[in-house]
Amino acid sequence: MGANRDDPFISFPPCKGPICFGEVGLDADVTIWATGDEHEVREVLCRAKGDDVCKIVISPEPKKIGLADR
Ligand SMILES: [Zn+2]
Repeated sequence: MGANRDDPFISFPPCKGPICFGEVGLDADVTIWATGDEHEVREVLCRAKGDDVCKIVISPEPKKIGLADR
């Protein structure tokens, strides 16, 4: 993929890691809303570090320490 300076999602120089913490936090909250459990949410690909897409992975299994312990 060629770098496009008009693309607001690409930073220069590219970041070392994923930066979409807002999206990850939102997805984490949505999984709690949808399932009642806390799931691990990680961004594994991010356009800010040069990947073609942002890819966020949500674990199918809930975290061991979740809402049940609160
Ligand atoms: Zn991203």
